[in-house]
Amino acid sequence: MAEIVLDKVSKKYPDGALAVSEVDITIADGEFLVLVGPSGCGKSTMLNMVAGLEDISSGELRIDGKRVNEKAPKDRDIAMVFQSYALYPHMSVRENMAFPLRLAKVDDQTVRAKVEEAATILDLTAHLDRKPANLSGGQRQRVAMGRAIVRNPKAFLMDEPLSNLDAKLRGQMRTSVSKIQKQLGTTTLYVTHDQTEAMTLGDRVVVLRGGFVQQIGAPQFLYENPANLFVAGFIGSPS
Ligand code: ADP
Ligand code: MG
Repeated sequence: MAEIVLDKVSKKYPDGALAVSEVDITIADGEFLVLVGPSGCGKSTMLNMVAGLEDISSGELRIDGKRVNEKAPKDRDIAMVFQSYALYPHMSVRENMAFPLRLAKVDDQTVRAKVEEAATILDLTAHLDRKPANLSGGQRQRVAMGRAIVRNPKAFLMDEPLSNLDAKLRGQMRTSVSKIQKQLGTTTLYVTHDQTEAMTLGDRVVVLRGGFVQQIGAPQFLYENPANLFVAGFIGSPS
């Protein structure tokens, strides 16, 4: 488990304008924090800086009080949950979920135990020997989560993990994601452009616009006290 702090974090791509501007966010240990905002507002850039996939131009990123700006992604003990299409089609569910552990040279017995434990949490035990093509969209998405869970990371990062699912399935998966995160208690940073998803999932929600944080707060608080017209319009005006 982990506390993640972004302290005046900015990102300027070499050829572009400021994509993220002096962002201050503290993600509490065990918290489900959602970053929401329109396309191009800097959500993925922020997530990728936390993951270590993009350099931070200025400011400091701390995990459990330690500066990690210079740490390689694999040394941050953070797992990214990708969209389900990132599964390996030729591998079984079991091998897909085991893959990160195999890379880390974990022994067979531990791999088996970890995969089966994750499968129980994700309700995938009956499907371990199937290939992704023979699963439903929801099951595939849970396998994608399984690949993150098996490593017992300090935190999960999710970039629009449900965006390629249909509306009905997306609703179901929201419930699963939330249940699984609460059960594991793993600090989670979740990115979406969908306000309903943000308001349903987040313990707190960060509204971003053009690289600037507009407001941070619990969903109910944002509904009732939007900081400005953009926030009010984006998340829906209070009735
Ligand atoms: P979001 O995930 O909210 O849609 P992004 O973080 O992908 O937004 O992008 C934020 C801004 O940074 C956009 O203006 C985008 O064009 C720009 N951007 C993203 N990635 C790169 C890159 N690799 N090089 C240059 N500019 C980029
Ligand atoms: Mg994005």
